[in-house]
Amino acid sequence: MQDGGLPHMGCNKNCCNSARANGIELFPASLGIHDTKTDKLMLVDATPAIAKQVSLLHALSNVPEANTLFDSLLLTHAHMGHYAGLIQLGKESCNSNAIPTFTSERMSDFIVNNNPWSQLQKDNNIAIQTFNGAQKNETFAPLDGLQVKAIAVPHREDFSDTFAFKISGADKTILYVPDIDHLNDATLLGNLFDGVDIAYIDGAFYDENELPNRDITKIPHPFIVRSVEILQPYADSNPGMIRFIHLNHSNPALTDKRLQVELHQKGFGIALQGEQVAL
Ligand SMILES: [Zn+2]
Ligand SMILES: [Zn+2]
Ligand SMILES: [Zn+2]
Repeated sequence: MQDGGLPHMGCNKNCCNSARANGIELFPASLGIHDTKTDKLMLVDATPAIAKQVSLLHALSNVPEANTLFDSLLLTHAHMGHYAGLIQLGKESCNSNAIPTFTSERMSDFIVNNNPWSQLQKDNNIAIQTFNGAQKNETFAPLDGLQVKAIAVPHREDFSDTFAFKISGADKTILYVPDIDHLNDATLLGNLFDGVDIAYIDGAFYDENELPNRDITKIPHPFIVRSVEILQPYADSNPGMIRFIHLNHSNPALTDKRLQVELHQKGFGIALQGEQVAL
């Protein structure tokens, strides 16, 4: 889901009322990585639902939560759905121990210079490492044997810049782009998709009719209908590689079976909470 998750606070429509009635909870977008050789774990983005997501990661990887929280953390940007879960690492909560936390330099400046986030660095709950090589296309290894490339993407810059991550294991590469304003830059698309096996792409809104009460141009995201047109060549060459994430609670593709079948026939899919890919 998009930053607010589902059910979305303040939404009194069927999308969220039915989720409340049926006890359905879908978390903001995040990835968990499990190294099956060492049982080390990595989290990509720290969402407001981090406690439940870390439990899900432990359950799916069969690594006891008591042994280790997680061993590494990547952050895409400073919007609440992507970093506000850091608050759970502090001494009022689990008081984590120097978790290597990989961010851009601007994201690092934001954390270190603003309360309450600065306290996490001061108290050594997190140990920030910036990916300085991002502009030079260098990779870094947040876990042994895992290669990550951070790629800057256009997105509303409130407190930090925004990055997408290409994460490569021994066999496969996944792309994680939870927030991007548009997909109209062919060079950027080439960089993002080159060598990728599975791409998790911002699918916040289905089309321009989705939010009748808000000016949708003020919250730019690529509409799924438009992304399908732009990304069709990738889906044609590798059907199923593109999985939409970061859906707004209002997005009809979450529940509309007809839209889901249509997307599937074109080679696209909506990512499922807890789905797994072998890297
Ligand atoms: Zn977001
Ligand atoms: Zn809703
Ligand atoms: Zn954002």
